[in-house]
Amino acid sequence: MRLENKIAIITGAGSGIGKATALLFAEEGAKVIVADIIEKGGEETVNEIRNKGGDAFFFKLDVTNREQSKQLAKEIVEKYGRIDILINNAGITQDALVTKMAEEQWDKVINVNLKGVFNCIQAVVEAMINQGNGVIINAASITGIFGNIGQTNYAATKAGVIGLTKSLAKELGKKGIRVNAVSPGFIMTPMTSNVPEKLLEMFKEKTPLHKLGEAKDVAYAYLYLSSDESKFVNGAVLCVDGGLAI
Ligand code: NAP
Repeated sequence: MRLENKIAIITGAGSGIGKATALLFAEEGAKVIVADIIEKGGEETVNEIRNKGGDAFFFKLDVTNREQSKQLAKEIVEKYGRIDILINNAGITQDALVTKMAEEQWDKVINVNLKGVFNCIQAVVEAMINQGNGVIINAASITGIFGNIGQTNYAATKAGVIGLTKSLAKELGKKGIRVNAVSPGFIMTPMTSNVPEKLLEMFKEKTPLHKLGEAKDVAYAYLYLSSDESKFVNGAVLCVDGGLAI
């Protein structure tokens, strides 16, 4: 198994890519902390993992809440003595053209997608520094690389996540901590379930592989970057987009 006995926190693991990642990590032997703002989705993920014989527990976490993030890290260190992997996967969209975007839409997306990543990193980093190793992976997006109409807020967060990832990879490398990002293209999850059929066709058309991605496609990228197979990969942005970014 590729993550045997690794302690892995996955934010936003009650749905979509986070859920697929939690299930895959548990199959690979990790003890998974399913951290999500929604109890129902999070508990469902945990139950699925346990039914398959895996090890997981749910922690109700709003990544914008610094105290909750700190409490999560504290509880894990008390329980397991270390934190091996943090997957900063939680994210939201609140799309609008810039002329119509409310300040709340801007602030909410920045808070969850960018400040939330910072909050969780700050919460776990001391434990990782003390143990002399660790893996942090952040959810970026093709939108953070190329931009997208109606997503100035979302694109700003994902571009920010890429800058944060590279800076932190430089800052923490000498402490034995690797920091990378994954940049999904168009993946079919609850986040993208309301996209009109016409747009889906357009994305398929633009993607060299001529199809949309599945949550598990991204989960496998998280798995690679979390395992020792990627022990010399640091500060990378791994595109999982069927070639959409080229
Ligand atoms: P998803 O199905 O909506 O899952 C995101 C999860 O994060 C949901 O369970 C959500 O809860 C949770 N969440 C939202 N706000 C939170 C908060 N403040 N604290 C903790 N958890 C919170 O989305 P997804 O498609 O799997 O996306 C996962 C990540 O990949 C996101 O960062 C997204 O930006 C990125 N991504 C996705 C795509 C794609 O095509 N799907 C493409 C590029 C990047 P609620 O359901 O209550 O909101």
